[in-house]
Amino acid sequence: MNKDNNKRRLPEWLKRPMPAGTDYNNTSGLIEGLGIETICTNANCPNRGQCWSKGTATVLILGNICTRNCKFCSVIKGSPLPPDKTEPNRVAELAEKLKIKYLVITSVTRDDLPDGGAQHFKDVMDTVRKKIPDIKFELLVPDFKNCQQKALEILANSLPFVFGHNLETVPRLYKIARSGANYQTSLNLLEMAKKNLNNTPTKSSIMLGLGETDDEIKQVLSDLRTVRCDRLAIGQYLKPSKQSLDVVEYITPEKFDFWAKYAKQIGFSWVMSSSFTRSSYNAHLDAN
Ligand code: SF4
Repeated sequence: MNKDNNKRRLPEWLKRPMPAGTDYNNTSGLIEGLGIETICTNANCPNRGQCWSKGTATVLILGNICTRNCKFCSVIKGSPLPPDKTEPNRVAELAEKLKIKYLVITSVTRDDLPDGGAQHFKDVMDTVRKKIPDIKFELLVPDFKNCQQKALEILANSLPFVFGHNLETVPRLYKIARSGANYQTSLNLLEMAKKNLNNTPTKSSIMLGLGETDDEIKQVLSDLRTVRCDRLAIGQYLKPSKQSLDVVEYITPEKFDFWAKYAKQIGFSWVMSSSFTRSSYNAHLDAN
């Protein structure tokens, strides 16, 4: 067998059953019926079977067309539509029907909007809270690169339970994986969020398997602690579409355990690190 075939063949620990079952179909039917976008489907997440069977999904607001062109992501790139005013109500209905108590909300990057979409994030939270007052929100936001202060001022009026923004990879790989983004800009957002959002816990995620070195990972984790980031998720990068970057390496479960311990040692209060960890994966659980 040649080397390329070897790389395409998934190691045993990365094999998962196809999504199926009554609970899965129920979640899928509700999402489809309400016209809700999820990152679960748009990013081809390998955890969909498990999460949807448990009635959990991560909603993708502000459309499914992104203004960036990140090579690790399978979300469509192009010119998005204006924010849909019916979306907050539809998300609220989904949360009510699925009896969700912890909702992760993310969005495409909206460089076309003067507030990066922050007001729409707030509108969704406010509308859902009217129906489910004790719901907790975890936001996974874009870098708001042209409007960080403005976006945080808007969100400060409707605080989430956790504020997340993903660094995704080490700075050296930004030019191939996240070409429209800047490592320092992303760190700045996490630092500013800590200061501007009344000490709301902050969270970030990175993917492994894109060719990063251990020293580079340590530097990223150290940078995150420097900006007082509290929570960390580390998972395996899996090529989500034909056009996406190839996987350079499959990281072993033992190495993910190593990173979990390391991250705890340097001060993260909440850590998830495993092949299938994604920023929203089991986000509601108290990690370790
Ligand atoms: S890990 Fe997150 S994105 Fe993946 S299926 Fe679960 S909720 Fe959706």
